[in-house]
Amino acid sequence: MSTALLDIHALRQTFPKADGGELLVLDGIELQLVQGQIVGLLGRTGSGKSTLLRAIAGLMRPSGGTITYLGQPVLAPAPGIAMVFQGFALFPWLTVLENVQLGLEALGLPETEIRQRALAAIDLIGLDGYESAYPRELSGGMRQRVGFARALVVHPNILLMDEPFSALDVLTAETLRTDFLELWSDGKLPIKGVLLVTHNIEEAVLMCDRILLFSSNPGRIIREIAVELKQPRNRLDPHFRDLVEKIYVAMTARTATPPRVGAVATSIDTILPRVSANLLSGFIETLAAEPYSGKADLPVIAELLHMEADDLFPVSDALQMLNLVEVEGGDIKITETGKQFVEAGTDDRKKIFQRQLLSYVPLAAHIRRVLQERANHVAPKSRFFDELEDHMGHDDVEQTLRSVTAWARYAEVFAYDDDSQTFSLENPT
Ligand code: ADP
Ligand code: MG
Repeated sequence: MSTALLDIHALRQTFPKADGGELLVLDGIELQLVQGQIVGLLGRTGSGKSTLLRAIAGLMRPSGGTITYLGQPVLAPAPGIAMVFQGFALFPWLTVLENVQLGLEALGLPETEIRQRALAAIDLIGLDGYESAYPRELSGGMRQRVGFARALVVHPNILLMDEPFSALDVLTAETLRTDFLELWSDGKLPIKGVLLVTHNIEEAVLMCDRILLFSSNPGRIIREIAVELKQPRNRLDPHFRDLVEKIYVAMTARTATPPRVGAVATSIDTILPRVSANLLSGFIETLAAEPYSGKADLPVIAELLHMEADDLFPVSDALQMLNLVEVEGGDIKITETGKQFVEAGTDDRKKIFQRQLLSYVPLAAHIRRVLQERANHVAPKSRFFDELEDHMGHDDVEQTLRSVTAWARYAEVFAYDDDSQTFSLENPT
């Protein structure tokens, strides 16, 4: 294993839950990074990708397993591993040069060398002439270039990138990706290997030599996909499209367990995707209409709606949970009920949505039942929050409650008041 820059074995990560139990976030992670490769970690939001990068960066200790960097266990931040963050993380009161130099401070180099190396990194990444500018004077793309320069200036063996393009507009992101790949392919970057975290399938296929697909809850590597296309890659190349399609299929095959028709709703611990009722009805209308007429290829409909995987999956998951669509083999297909929903008028739509919600989303039925049983038909948020926190993490509880509330409001099943933080029945009678 002497060629591996990084070797991760049986990595496990749990976080404590409110009830004293454990939330399993990463499980059984095996990963090797060898010299000369860009390896993509592709998964949905919440699949533990950032957690994994933080562990590799030595910013936290994993609960189990080992992380080995050049034969040594990673127990603290290693000088040969640098990270580019999604949110730039620049210091607003420092100039570009000062921000980049900051990356070198820990190395204890002479001042002239610090300056030289910082200027070289700035030059390399296309920021020449901006040395004395402040972050607020720069566009998002330029700011992220500073983020790259600060990571590269240490000449790390491994560059970790956590969704580095996702805060940028489409064109800026593509320019920066292209510039990065060109420097990488030309051997101009002072790095040996890259781990790129992304939720964007096309970005992974564009940039990576290998892609590791993550499942959610807990995050596990479910599949490894080699990308053997030559750089620079063309998004329109049929081989490129085939790979994108293949990954879509793999990722949708692992969506939230589809509800079994007729199953008794007893469990409330399903994390609900964050999507508004408006987006749900808008999407299903689009799917029902021409040119899809009720059935579409997920990557195709995603592209036409200018949605990325992360925007689309919550929608398809939610519609699937509500039994308004079926997803199989990368295709999304409207159900009979879904058709009825689209064809119905406003009032009937509400009724259909209400029926689906109460039949297939146990949490909605549960909240309604609790409210019905209470004399004044009111219950504090904490009543449900505490209950859910036994099953999922704090952020997931927030998201799940927000989603069920939005859907229930649309269906007029129950209401929630933000000021008093209480749920109440819309129509107690
Ligand atoms: P990703 O980057 O794939 O979106 P994250 O690694 O950020 O996923 O988070 C994975 C899961 O771990 C989420 O459910 C998140 O709420 C939980 N999580 C992350 N960090 C912590 C923490 N410090 N304490 C508790 N839960 C956490
Ligand atoms: Mg993340």
